[in-house]
Amino acid sequence: MTSLAPSQQPEATTLPLVHIEGLVFRYPNGHQALHGLDLRIQPGEKVALIGPNGAGKSTLMLHLNGIHLPTEGRVVIDGLPVTRENLGRIRSLVGLVFQDPDDQLFSPTVYDDVAFGPIHMGLTKEEVDQRVARALHAVGLAGFEQRQPFHLSIGQRKRAALATVLSMSPRLLVLDEPSAGLDPRGRRELIGLLRTLEQSLLVSTHDMRLVAEVFPRTIILDEGRIVADGPTPQLLADPALLEAHGLEMP
Ligand code: ADP
Repeated sequence: MTSLAPSQQPEATTLPLVHIEGLVFRYPNGHQALHGLDLRIQPGEKVALIGPNGAGKSTLMLHLNGIHLPTEGRVVIDGLPVTRENLGRIRSLVGLVFQDPDDQLFSPTVYDDVAFGPIHMGLTKEEVDQRVARALHAVGLAGFEQRQPFHLSIGQRKRAALATVLSMSPRLLVLDEPSAGLDPRGRRELIGLLRTLEQSLLVSTHDMRLVAEVFPRTIILDEGRIVADGPTPQLLADPALLEAHGLEMP
């Protein structure tokens, strides 16, 4: 496995935001999708997750907010183990955005979708309104409160889906293929947005230019194992490594 030299490792004394140890996951049909993953992500890190189709990227990401629970090993977010009992708190720490925004947008207005999480956190109407305004501003959709999500463009729907989790003020954002289906302008807007977000990011993508432009660190997953984890420029400069795992240079 390609990895950081000890001197390059992020400061080990801070509590990792994500701490995964020995994560094994088997689907109910017996298929083992993850084969013992160890991973730490420090607060504020922006990490790309790449690998061929079927590598286990989605399966791994679905562990971060407890949609899947480990068959073996453990996933800890900000010191809190991802278990059934902790799901409420875990889901306010981790915002998961699916590839298809229509899996996330289900209300008559953008306001209702973005307010849904904060309302269920028990906040006052004023606080909810503030959070909705802040989240929509962050994704470049200020003033879209009363628009109907299904009338927006795909790029706008993707940004609205991101706003539905940003309004919960999560510490970690987990995004599945955020640039898929976007036109060049939508892609540029997304890159600008991802760069400005303060949260830690774990983003799965096949878009190697997105990887190069946004993420200082990249993890390559293949056949349910982490096969490389290091500085993005170093990994992307290794054509043999990329080719061995079905990836291409940007
Ligand atoms: P990726 O996101 O990297 O494309 P996935 O996490 O979706 O990979 O899939 C990892 C492996 O788990 C694949 O072999 C896939 O076929 C298998 N898999 C995914 N979902 C299920 C499921 N619900 N039941 C059984 N196997 C599954």
